[in-house]
Amino acid sequence: MADIYLDNNATTRVDDAVVAAMLPFFTEQYGNPSSMHGFGDKVGRALKLARAQVQSLLGAAHDSEIVFTSCGTESNSTAILSALKSFPDRREIITTTVEHPAVLTLCQHLEQNEGYTVHYLAVDRQGRLDLDTYRALLSPRVAVVSVMWANNETGTLFPVREMAEMAHAADVLFHTDAVQAVGKIPLDLKSTAIDMLSLSGHKLHAAKGVGVLYLRRGVRYRPLLRGGHQERGRRAGTENAAGIVGLGVAAELALHYMEYENAAVRRLRDTLEQGIIAQVPSCFVTGDPHNRLPNTANIAFEYIEGEAILLLLNKAGIAASSGSACTSGSLEPSHVMRAMDIPYTAAHGTVRFSFSRYNTAEEVARVIEAVPPVVAQLRKLSPYWDGKTNAPVRDPQQAFAPSYA
Ligand SMILES: *Cc1c(COP(=O)(O)O)cnc(C)c1O
Repeated sequence: MADIYLDNNATTRVDDAVVAAMLPFFTEQYGNPSSMHGFGDKVGRALKLARAQVQSLLGAAHDSEIVFTSCGTESNSTAILSALKSFPDRREIITTTVEHPAVLTLCQHLEQNEGYTVHYLAVDRQGRLDLDTYRALLSPRVAVVSVMWANNETGTLFPVREMAEMAHAADVLFHTDAVQAVGKIPLDLKSTAIDMLSLSGHKLHAAKGVGVLYLRRGVRYRPLLRGGHQERGRRAGTENAAGIVGLGVAAELALHYMEYENAAVRRLRDTLEQGIIAQVPSCFVTGDPHNRLPNTANIAFEYIEGEAILLLLNKAGIAASSGSACTSGSLEPSHVMRAMDIPYTAAHGTVRFSFSRYNTAEEVARVIEAVPPVVAQLRKLSPYWDGKTNAPVRDPQQAFAPSYA
């Protein structure tokens, strides 16, 4: 039996059509797109097509608003640092407590080492933001707002369209890390007030090492990388031609598969959630039940460790994740679970199953079969679980001493 991959929020399989489109750019079409000869010309035309394909997926007004970068992380850093350089007198940043480390770590650095004031918007138990708190923080002191479109751990969607409108009304730049949203939900940027957006190729069936920064026409901008005139001087460095061409094809496929993903992938995800919840006591789905990506299921299995579940699932040929790949390896529950104030006894036992169009109903059936015995086996070892009653021991929250400081 083939292994089952349910970790598509960490990275995705490169689509065969994407690989096929990339290959010639390693062999026959190796020209530098900036060169003034036929070799360069051909590659330049391929990049132009890819730019149009990404423009379509994003619903951007102009293809010149698409800047190719090396990854989602670079796009996020470029956007935030550009805003700070463009408005040197503005010393505040607004973001959230549940951003990807690609935004959070940068903000913490700016706060600790560069003297910026960073406002981290809190979330409730369901991972939702309070827009009144947000509105109150918007002021001429704020250089940029950076709020993710979809959360990588829970799939929770933030109301970024509305938040961008509010930022604009206050004359503040708005950036969104849309790495998890792009390709999974319709975007149509031209009908929004979003100024900057980040996406990453490897999260939507393109290769690792290519990303995009969307820059609304007319937005103030200062490049991170200076050098050659690539990307109209907005991102110097010879373009990753193969990666970009592949991303263009991936964007076209994403647009094509969007409806399928919304329906079929959601059905697989929901079947998995319902199947597990029906059979496993003391577990629940985290995140906003009403505004969520169709592909993400984050389930908290109380009184056991997510890492232990993953290990046993891995033995059964099932690949999932606990927290984000970037935070796993530490014993603390992820910052997203802590921000949602998920009880300590549950936050440690979260497992993220993230789907793609490559997953099948047979795979979901196998996972639904595999999970309950794994959880039962681990709970046998848990001091907080009573095997006789098949329920938690009395007052496990008390027994499980530490809680977050
Ligand atoms: C994966 C991810 C990133 C980082 O993208 P890279 O291309 O790997 O740098 C940023 N934000 C979110 C929400 C992600 O899921």
